[in-house]
Order: sequence, then structure tokens, then C-alpha cells
Amino acid sequence: TAQIETHEFQAEARQLLQLMVHSIYSNKDIFLRELVSNASDALDKLRLESFRDKDLDADIDDLRIDLEVDRVARTLTVRDNGIGMSRDEVVDLIGTIAKSGTAELLRSLREAKQADGAAASELIGQFGVGFYSAFMVADSVTLVTRKAGQAEAVRWASDGTGTYTLEPVADAPQGTAVTLHLKPEDAEDHLHDYTAESVLREIVRRYSDFVTWPIRLEVERTDEDGTTTREWETVNSRKALWARPKDEVSDEEYREFYKHISHDWLDPLRTISVRAEGTFEYQALLFLPSRAPADLYYRDAKRGVQLYVKRVFIMDNCEALVPDYLRFVKGVVDAQDLSLNVSREILQQDRHIQLMRRRLVKKVLAEVKAMMSDDRANYDTFWREFGSVLKEGLVEDPDNSKAILDVASFASTHDAEEPTTLRDYVERTGEGQDHIYYLTGASRSMIENSPHMEAFRAKGLEVLVLTDPIDEFWVEQVGEYEGKTFQSIAKGQVDLDGDGEDSAEADKPDESEFDALREWLSTALADDVKEVRLSSRLTSSPACLVGDTHDLPPALVRMYQQAGQ
Ligand code: ADP
Ligand code: MG
Repeated sequence: TAQIETHEFQAEARQLLQLMVHSIYSNKDIFLRELVSNASDALDKLRLESFRDKDLDADIDDLRIDLEVDRVARTLTVRDNGIGMSRDEVVDLIGTIAKSGTAELLRSLREAKQADGAAASELIGQFGVGFYSAFMVADSVTLVTRKAGQAEAVRWASDGTGTYTLEPVADAPQGTAVTLHLKPEDAEDHLHDYTAESVLREIVRRYSDFVTWPIRLEVERTDEDGTTTREWETVNSRKALWARPKDEVSDEEYREFYKHISHDWLDPLRTISVRAEGTFEYQALLFLPSRAPADLYYRDAKRGVQLYVKRVFIMDNCEALVPDYLRFVKGVVDAQDLSLNVSREILQQDRHIQLMRRRLVKKVLAEVKAMMSDDRANYDTFWREFGSVLKEGLVEDPDNSKAILDVASFASTHDAEEPTTLRDYVERTGEGQDHIYYLTGASRSMIENSPHMEAFRAKGLEVLVLTDPIDEFWVEQVGEYEGKTFQSIAKGQVDLDGDGEDSAEADKPDESEFDALREWLSTALADDVKEVRLSSRLTSSPACLVGDTHDLPPALVRMYQQAGQ
């Protein structure tokens, strides 16, 4: 009819559409996430607007998002009964790209000549692509919308090339319906057949499960007598637990949620919730599992933290949110002010994300510390399962090494059964001792039987028994705890009485008596040791090997040897 108008897309919008039509994203499924997110925003806006404007003639009783499928016509419609758009808003919001960033994006794409492949999709990640992502899976898109409180509705249609059409619609329900005429090639691909109930269900579950509005799907049921009925089913769980105040969520709900995101069947040891308000708003709900996963030490082990933006799932395995040494932490971080298409690279560089990560690390360490005093049994489990991983942080993250040492515990000669904290060690040693003595080795019995132990045992000095391979790495780097330096009892000159190793001058035999023996040993062991010297550190063994203060730790030496160096 004469009422159909044809409009040109703004130049930049046309370019972005081009990129979408040629599907620069490897993951097409995200179109649904974008449309659901827009629908969810529209419902949020309507709810807010109806609070503000009591006179608004709008229906807010049954706000929801419906996914309607026509398998014959091969269309998928995403319908909401939210705020809707006026005709002018459709032109402004859908026909042009108002977002200032997009022009910049397209310019950098051109300049970098990266309009193909992965690099382009990374660049795009900085900017929202939103509605246009529909053209990744559709040959043409129709949008019918009626603004809440207004009578006239409008139909927008485009095939994603240079133009779109607009026409008035006589009667349309409040809200927006976006209909995708799906590309025929996806019909053959059972994973990407967007008319299939199972495919839609799975995408909603993956990306939009915690959208607070119901997302409904019309499903077919066939009775025993062969009659088929269609009924609406809500396919998202709608539980954005992290957005609810902690005291309103039951332990049971937290446990269920943990199991849902972690695929663990055990309960978590601890639930940690974080809320930040202000310029960069976010909520986090993190969990300490009760058992280490099998792949904890694999190089490409998955991280457990998922990123959401405004309740919309963005990515899992999000390495920007937690450091390597907290890779066992599971949970969700929901940030308010990020683009839905934010990429991993962008996250790594984002200043807000870095601040958030720092806060999350501190919070997790603080919770472990709290667990030490209020839930000792869980702390013991935690340390047994994850202590070695946490100690990697002593090397990786010097800023937090004090906080990590505060929650660490170690086997010690003080007690054969119970590990000790460093605080307890320091308290026991008292004023006189400036060192925290330790010995590293492959096993407790090897360490206990080491000749190096003799003098320490004789003097009743406590020695930490460090059998974890990682211990060799951090102990030198960290250096001290509460003013006491870590001192290996197998290295250099150990000053046991505060006035030199060879302090017992009076008892000491004349060194020259041993010259012949030392010379003979030096020659016989020339290839194996640097020096043969007399020592007072032994009480019953005749000899022991001592490392130089600056020698590489034995574990490193073994590593180099294995690497053929
Ligand atoms: P973004 O959501 O990042 O703003 P989109 O391309 O997804 O970008 O959408 C552009 C704009 O179009 C939205 O900001 C919104 O104003 C409008 N819009 C899109 N979908 C809907 C909808 N279902 N209901 C109301 N407005 C919508
Ligand atoms: Mg959007």
C-alpha cells in the first residue's frame, strides 16, 4: 500500500549490518541472547515507567518474553509485552547507530584492515552489536512494535542490505515482536535449527537462565490417544540469586545454584557474596568447592567464574575475573556497565575489571581466614584440597602474599599430626628467634631423618616440614613473615645461637687436626661438592650436604635437568 515507506540505513549502520550478514562471529547462537536481552530491558523499562507515571495506560500484569516458532514458514519470533517503541524511536534506535562507539569501531576496523576473521570479532567485542546480530541467522527481519500507552503501532522490515521499510499497523499488542525469517541453510544443522524446541531450550538455558522475566516456549505435547496440544512452558529458571540480599536466600537455594553452575554433586564449603555499588556496580556470588577437580593442575584447566552483564550470561571460564591461583573458585560475577559483547581481551585491560578482581581476591582470602576460626573442619578440607594451588599466589601475586600466608598451614616438627599456621609458629618461638626455620624435601620422613635436623632437634627448635614442590619456589621469594625471615636449615651458615655457627669455640677441636681428612675428602669428592668444611650443626651424623645460600632449589635443579639443561 501507499503507506509503506522505504528508508536508507545510516552509512555506519549499513556497514555493521554487512559484518553481521557475513557472520563475523563464530558463535551465531548469541543472536537470541541479544534479542532476549533487549526484551528484558524493555520489560524493565516498562516496569520502571509504570512506577513513575501512574497514569500510564499500560498492562504490566503478566510481563514476559515469548519465543514463537513456525516450523513451516521457518520463522522465530521473540515477543515481549514491554515498553515498545514509537515510530520515531524505531527510526532512531533501529535505523541508525546512535552509539558513539560504533563509528569509531568501524573506522578502526577499516584502518586495521581487519574486517575479517577473529581479529575483527575481537574488535567488535568492545561495542554492542545488539539487534543487528539477528541478521547472522535471518535473511530478513520484521519488527512490530507498539509503545505502551500509545494507540498506533509500526512494522519495520529489512533484509539487512541498504534499506528498510516502515508501515503503520492497525492493531498490535503492546510491546515488540521481532520475527526472524531464518536462513534455509541452518535448517539442515540440527545444532543450529532455531525452530527446534531443544535448540532454543538449550540456548536459553546457557545464556539467559537467570533473566528475571519468564522466557516461554510453546511446546507440543502428544497424548496417548495421539492428540497434539500446544502449551506454553517457562524455560528459564529465573533465579538471579546474586542480585538478592544474602539473608533472603536459603542455604538450599545457594547449594542448588552452586551445583547448577559447577556440575558438582557435593555441597560447596563456603558461599561468598559481594556487592559493589557506585560508579562500577557489580554483584558476585562465589563458592569454594569441597573437592579439587581432576584437572586442577592441567595447563588449560577451566576457571570457574562466569561473567554476566545485567543478568545476561556473557561467558564462562572468565580468566580476567580471578587469578590463576584461585582457579578453583566457582561462581558468577554480574557487572552492570559492560557491553554484552565484551571480549576476553577487553576485560583483561579494563581498569574497573582489574579493581573488581582485586576486591574479589581480597574477599576470597578474607573468607578463608574467617573459615579458619569459625569453621575449622571446612578450613582443613579447603587447605588439603586447594592449599598447594593457593600457594602459587605467593609467587604470582606478591601484593597478597601476606594475606595468603595468613591463611596457610604447614606440617611442622611441633606436632606430628596437626599442621601449624605461621602465626602460631611465630608465637611459639618468642622474642629471641629471628627466623622461621624450614626444610624442604620429598616426604615428611625424609625431612625428619635428614642430618640437618639433628642440631635443631637437639636444641628443641621448631622446623617447618615443607614437602610440597611449590614450597621451594615461594619460600625464597617471600622472604619473611611478621618480621621473621624464612631460613632453610639446609643452606649456608645457620646461626643457631645468635653468635655464629661455630660459636662453641671452647669445645671446638683444633681444626688443623682435620686438615688431612678434609683434603682427602675434597679430592675424592671434587666433582660432587664445592667445599668440605667442619660444622657444629650435626650431633650424631658424621657428615651432611649443605646448599649454598644462593643455590637453586633442588626442585628447580631437577626441573632443569629433566629439560636437558
Ligand atoms: P542496545 O541494547 O545495546 O542498546 P540494540 O541494538 O540491542 O542495542 O538495541 C538498540 C535499541 O533498540 C535499544 O537500546 C532499545 O532502545 C531498542 N530496542 C531494541 N529491542 C527492543 C525491544 N524489544 N523493545 C523496546 N526497545 C527495543
Ligand atoms: Mg541490546
